[in-house]
Amino acid sequence: MKKIYLDCAATTPVDDEVLKAMMPYFSEKFGNASSIHSFGQEAIAAIDGARGKIAELLNCDFNEIIFTGSATEANNLAILGIARNFQFSIFKKNTKQEISNTKYHIISTPIEHESVHEPLKELKKADHEIDYLPVDKNGLVKISDIEKTIKNNTVLVSVIYANNEIGTIQPIKEIGKLIEKINKTRRENGFSKIYFHTDAVQAMNYLECRPDWLKADLLTFSGHKIYGPKGIGGLYVRKNTPLSPIISGGGQEFGLRSGTENVAAVAGLAKAVELIFSARGGSASGGKNREKRSKHVLDLRNGLWENIVKYNKSAELNGSFEGRLPNNINIRFPGISNETLIVALDQAGVAVSAGSACSSRAMEPSHVLTAIGLTEKEAKESIRITLGKNTAKEEIKKAAEIINKVLSALQSK
Ligand code: PLP
Repeated sequence: MKKIYLDCAATTPVDDEVLKAMMPYFSEKFGNASSIHSFGQEAIAAIDGARGKIAELLNCDFNEIIFTGSATEANNLAILGIARNFQFSIFKKNTKQEISNTKYHIISTPIEHESVHEPLKELKKADHEIDYLPVDKNGLVKISDIEKTIKNNTVLVSVIYANNEIGTIQPIKEIGKLIEKINKTRRENGFSKIYFHTDAVQAMNYLECRPDWLKADLLTFSGHKIYGPKGIGGLYVRKNTPLSPIISGGGQEFGLRSGTENVAAVAGLAKAVELIFSARGGSASGGKNREKRSKHVLDLRNGLWENIVKYNKSAELNGSFEGRLPNNINIRFPGISNETLIVALDQAGVAVSAGSACSSRAMEPSHVLTAIGLTEKEAKESIRITLGKNTAKEEIKKAAEIINKVLSALQSK
């Protein structure tokens, strides 16, 4: 029996069209984009083309798109890059900032991906101030809390667009607007700008991600979550955003990310983004294909959830049914360990996870679930099911049967 893959938040298969776009750059057009000769020119043309295409679709400038080795790296670059830059420039004579030392302040949430959490922890260790906004039981931040938390030395606000575990969608556009308003007053009073970063890795398949629309200064995305290759990420960096590189060397990517470019992956990422916007991978058509993907997974996901709760009355949804990504459900089955359930489901032919990919390996209780109020035990009774554009109706029907059967067997033990 063909296994059923319901872990699309962990990764997605590479789309055929993406693979086709990548293939020439492995062995046929293998040049180094930094070389002057024609082989190098072929490579740089491919990178320029990919950057131009993504910029067009995200409605931004060519040099506002930076390719990185992963979204993890893009998140690190956004956070540590801003932090490092401020360390150097916070005492510029023309600012009135009353800061007793070089400490700066960053605002984030307790439900960020590890690739945001860890660099923030590093900055905290270096004695900088990090405030985590409270989230409610659905994982939502309150916009008014952001306003209350901002200080004179705030340099960055980083809020995940759509959560990778419970799918909660944050009001990014409203947060962006608020920060824009606050920045206007700060500018008038001689304070430096607060930059706004959002991790849009899980959002990009389903939600509007144009940075201008969101009023984001920095926006992270990843290849392998959108049917592109692994090992490639992107960071939108608004013009004049003061960012220091975290990887130095040959000065590629406008000096922000050194290292010989992975041309095939860059070409694949651009094709994957393009496919979100148009069914045939043509020109920007306002996210037509994104809407199609959303509707497809939403209908299937709702059907799956209804079927599961029908046979498992004690099942509880983590996070709200509304305001979450259309492909995500995160369910707690009281009394059943997620580790046992995931292994049993895998053996029965259905792949799901415990949350983020690395937590499922470590089997630590999810920091997202504990942040929304679950106990560690409850967090360890929860699984994440995430559908994708290739998930078929018959697969969902079969998966529901398997899940109910496996649960019934585990409950009767
Ligand atoms: N941010 C979010 C929300 C994610 O879900 C992930 C991957 O799980 C990442 C960042 C890291 O992405 P990558 O695997 O490209 O490093």
